[in-house]
Amino acid sequence: MTQTLPAAVGFLAEIRAETGRGAGRPLEPVFASLGSRAELQEQSAGQALRIVLLHSGAPDDAHARAGGRTLALAGELYNQDELVRLLPGAARPDSDAALVLALFEIYDLHAFRLLNGRFAALLAAPGRVVLGTDHAGSVPLYLSAAPGRVLAATEAKALRTAPAGRRLPARPVRRLPGTHQVPAGTVLDIQVAAGDCTAHRTWAPPLARRTVPEEEAAETVRHALDRAVRTRTGPGTPLVVLSGGIDSSSVAALAARRAAGPIDTVSMGTDLADEFPQARVVAQHLASAHREVTVPTGDLLRRLPHTVWAAECLDPDIIEYLLPLTTLYLRLAGTGRRILTGYGADIPLGGMHREDRLPELDTAICRDMATFDGLNEMTPTLSGISGHWSTHPYWDRDVLDLLVPLEAGLKRRYGQDKWVLRAAMGDLLPHEVVIRPKLGVHEGSGTSSSFTRLLIDAGVVPERVRQAKQLVVQELFDRVVTEGRHPNEVPLDTVVEQVTGPLLSGARPVP
Ligand code: AMP
Ligand code: MG
Repeated sequence: MTQTLPAAVGFLAEIRAETGRGAGRPLEPVFASLGSRAELQEQSAGQALRIVLLHSGAPDDAHARAGGRTLALAGELYNQDELVRLLPGAARPDSDAALVLALFEIYDLHAFRLLNGRFAALLAAPGRVVLGTDHAGSVPLYLSAAPGRVLAATEAKALRTAPAGRRLPARPVRRLPGTHQVPAGTVLDIQVAAGDCTAHRTWAPPLARRTVPEEEAAETVRHALDRAVRTRTGPGTPLVVLSGGIDSSSVAALAARRAAGPIDTVSMGTDLADEFPQARVVAQHLASAHREVTVPTGDLLRRLPHTVWAAECLDPDIIEYLLPLTTLYLRLAGTGRRILTGYGADIPLGGMHREDRLPELDTAICRDMATFDGLNEMTPTLSGISGHWSTHPYWDRDVLDLLVPLEAGLKRRYGQDKWVLRAAMGDLLPHEVVIRPKLGVHEGSGTSSSFTRLLIDAGVVPERVRQAKQLVVQELFDRVVTEGRHPNEVPLDTVVEQVTGPLLSGARPVP
């Protein structure tokens, strides 16, 4: 069988020094993502290692062992060809995990500075644990460490029963004392016995800006995006979640050009709003096998607990933004699809800033590139809860390294936002698509307004809607992450009633 999904989409790992100090009950491998489980146990050099892999049929490809080291990888790499050239000998490692381990033997921590991928990785060596995220932290990675033990998992909920760990140079997780999230583009190097941890950055958003002639800029953007789409397309028919905006239409056009047959595209809308006509223009142009999925707003809102469960995020704007696609993924037929999105083009290109002044535009881009981390917007778990794997070509490391440094005048030009992308794709899409202005998925699907309406109907005054949204998301987080409940057991109306009650009586809720 040809493998469509990455070998593993998640893991839980426990490393304990066999001194008695680190002993404790093994953690339960709870994940929101679907997958099969495979457990590895090793005992060596006074250290016990247990890894539970959440895999998609080929667990042996999700981990590798050599030279007393074990590496587990959730996710995948996109620059294997260039990485393989760094290895001695002609033999190509037979998995991404083996490739990373082989690079680690040569470069140690610096191996992570070579990788372009969508992954979370754990490496266990005698006395040492290394945890690494990709440049964007797009596969979340959590840990809890104390002298004699290191616990790590791709979902925070898997660590919710971990004993309190020590403070680490990473982001603390709400109400899980001692549990931290590994920042984007970072490796943590942990000494198991002492529990000491050092953080090393492996990627940072570029700050310098490049001036490039128009044509060259458009050409290089087209080339980089084409490569990012190619490396993300598996052996099966690609599926693109298509809004009909320039970002997802470009991805679909590049995927369609390479595919042997028609690609699959799908658009979602609600009874309040959709972008179906816009997406249809693109689907017809590309002759894709296109589907439209209409979700009643009641059903959409009922997926709020699932969205918080998958994203493990406390930001109500992000949850609102992620809700429509999570709902769409839950309605996709079959399992194990590889999904390409147009997510994230706006961040390096400043697409959501309707700003004509270039200094302000570049300031906004700097700010957005400095603050994306920790929100889990890109997490594969959104589609993982229905057994699919999503991947985002615009947040390919090489695409970002090209887009971010383009001077702002190439991003806003001739009165258009994201000019360079529109110029790059001009010949592959209908003109009306190329010039279509930005519409966020939460706007295009009416999600923001339906969540607002729900709270207004519950009696919240308009000035307090934002605060109420925040409280609802916090409460959901506490139930499905901290308490580890399944979202099907968390009825939204009860949560809304509970958090809006104090707001209605005028009492100040505890934040
Ligand atoms: P946006 O907020 O519009 O930039 O959305 C991010 C990505 O989500 C897009 O590039 C599409 O891949 C996908 N998307 C947005 N809206 C829809 C929709 N209505 N139906 C299907 N996919 C969508
Ligand atoms: Mg859109």
